[in-house]
This record gives sequence, C-alpha cells and structure tokens, in this order.
Amino acid sequence: MIDTMDMQITKVKRSKIKDLDFENLPFGKYFSDHMLEADYVNGEWQNVSIKPYQPIMFEPSLVALHYGQAIFEGIKAYKNPAGEAFIFRPYDNFKRFNLSAERMQMPVIPEEIFIEGMRTLIDIDKDWIPAKEDYSLYIRPVMFATDTAIGVKPSETYKFLILLSPTGPYYAQPMKIYVEEKYTRAAPGGVGFAKNAGNYGGSMYATAIAKKQGYDQVLWTDCLEHKWLHEVGTMNIFFIIGNKAITPSLDEGTILDGVTRSSAMTILEELGFTVEERRINIDEVIEAYKKGTLTEVFGTGTAATISPIKELKYKDFVMEFDTNGWKTAPQVKKILTEIREGKREDKYGWLFKV
Ligand SMILES: *Cc1c(COP(=O)(O)O)cnc(C)c1O
Repeated sequence: MIDTMDMQITKVKRSKIKDLDFENLPFGKYFSDHMLEADYVNGEWQNVSIKPYQPIMFEPSLVALHYGQAIFEGIKAYKNPAGEAFIFRPYDNFKRFNLSAERMQMPVIPEEIFIEGMRTLIDIDKDWIPAKEDYSLYIRPVMFATDTAIGVKPSETYKFLILLSPTGPYYAQPMKIYVEEKYTRAAPGGVGFAKNAGNYGGSMYATAIAKKQGYDQVLWTDCLEHKWLHEVGTMNIFFIIGNKAITPSLDEGTILDGVTRSSAMTILEELGFTVEERRINIDEVIEAYKKGTLTEVFGTGTAATISPIKELKYKDFVMEFDTNGWKTAPQVKKILTEIREGKREDKYGWLFKV
C-alpha cells in the first residue's frame, strides 16, 4: 500500500497566481501551480509526487495515443463563506474512475492516491479556489497507458495525474438540442458508462453536423431504433412531465452515471417530484409536449450544473420551450449551488473537507 506520507512534494519557486485574472476564467484554460503524478510500474502504483505543473515528455510510440487506454474524471472544489475548502462528492468520482479503469483493462487506483492525493494537492493550491459566488476549482484526474511499443494489448505501465483549473461562472445559455437519428455514442455491451477518452473523440463528428444546423449538442439515442433517449454531450438529461421527473436508466450500460444526475434526483424528490429512472422514448416526450404536460427539459453535469434546453428537434418536429417561466430547473440549480458553496445545510453529506 502507498503511504501518502511518502509522497514527494516539490513546490514552485514562484506562484503564477498573481498573473491570473480572476475576472476572466474560461472553463479549463488555466492550471494551478502544482499537479499530482503517480506511475503504475511492476504491478503497483509508485512515485507519488506533487510537483510544479509542467509538460511531460513521451516517445511517439506511447500506446495511449494509438489504442486509447485513457480515462478521466471531472470534480469541483469550492470555498464556503468562511473560506474553508470543500470537494463535492469526490468518492462518487473515485468509484466511477475505477469502474472506467476496469472496463478499459487498466489498473484501479487506491483511495490513498485519488482522494488523499487530491486533498493534499488542493490544500497546497487552495488559493486557486476562487472564493466567489458561482466560481470553483475544476479538478481533472486522468490516467493513461504509457508503454512504448506498438502492439494491441493492455499496457503494463500507466500514469495518473490530477490537474486543477480555476473556473469562473458558467452561465449556461439555454441549449438547442438535436435528437440523433443516425450516429450512435454507445450500445449495450460497449463502453458508454465509462469516462474514457474515446467516447468523446467518437462523438465529435455527429455534434459538428448538428452545430452546422444551428444546434448546440445532440441527444444520443439507442443504436437500433434511434428512439430511446440516452444523454447529451457531457450531461445527463431530465424531463419534467406533470409531477414526474424522468431520466433514462443506467441498466444497459450506455449512459454515464452522473454525480450531478444523482444529486438532482435527490433534490427533485425533496421538491416533491416522483423521480423515475427508466427507459424513455422520444414518442412519449413528443406526446407529452403535444398534451402540454412536458414543462421542462434540462441537462445535468459538473461543468454547467443544470442546463435548460429551450429547443429539442426530432426529425421535422421541433419542441420549443420558454425557459424564462421555468420553476424546477432554476430551483434545483439554486439548491445544488447553495449546498456546494456551503450556504445551505449539507444534509446528504456531499461535501468533503480539504
Ligand atoms: C461527465 C459526464 C456526465 C456528467 O457527469 P457528472 O458526474 O454529473 O459531471 C454525463 N455524461 C457524460 C457522457 C459525461 O462524460
């Protein structure tokens, strides 16, 4: 077992934080002073270190580039009004990271490195967590195969990194979504439930086509009929129909088990909705829209939290919503944001103190 006390820590000589314009923090553009690094060699994790954020050099034969054994996570840290730092539900991301690792035939990472390493890294760079409403520190754990020999087989060596990126408010504009009827993101038995790099590479072509037609993202559907709804980009999806909040179920392994999805389900129940996790078909959505019982559609994800959908297009049928009059999505967002920023009781134990 790795003892985090053995972690080698090298700090920067001069912090870059003074160069940072906290008023202008686009998502994922700037990185903090330090990063965590660990190597999987000879069947165990070793060389756990925190060091200045810096480039890494590899041979061109790095197998992660050729065969795609690469997985990641996305987590956020916040400061409460007293200035204390918290990470939101990191154990959920830790479990999901290891599920992704298993599916991609990669080694699992111990809690000592993922959680305790993250905590130590954030403690060192805690000045990088903006103490402002709607600001946060985005945490990006990533693992990839580092063997350098061309041949399709599981790598014997891997690198694990944690990067930190301060981010400003993500004022999600209501989105226009195209219901995909040709391309497929995930099929039963595939890797849809894993946060592996290839899922994103594979989704860009269909998204680019939708963008050309004026849509922001596609809503992925099942691979056979293109009618059963999956998820959007890096967001899970919710439909408010009458007193029900419906979100596609995870049973087939085609959808990412979002932490924001899980948090939203809890809050929706608290708000009095009947939450249903089940298969949902575009025909049911269209029928509810026509009857006027479909009132809100929104996406959930760590980056934007809750993103209202103002237009949903399936074949020639366009569903439009006036998001200004919505009550549910803004309320879920408000409650979730207040819990994350320590302004509302954390009754579900979602905050992890740094
Ligand atoms: C990361 C991600 C989500 C959202 O997960 P959260 O844990 O809520 O951030 C949803 N779908 C996909 C495909 C994702 O990659």
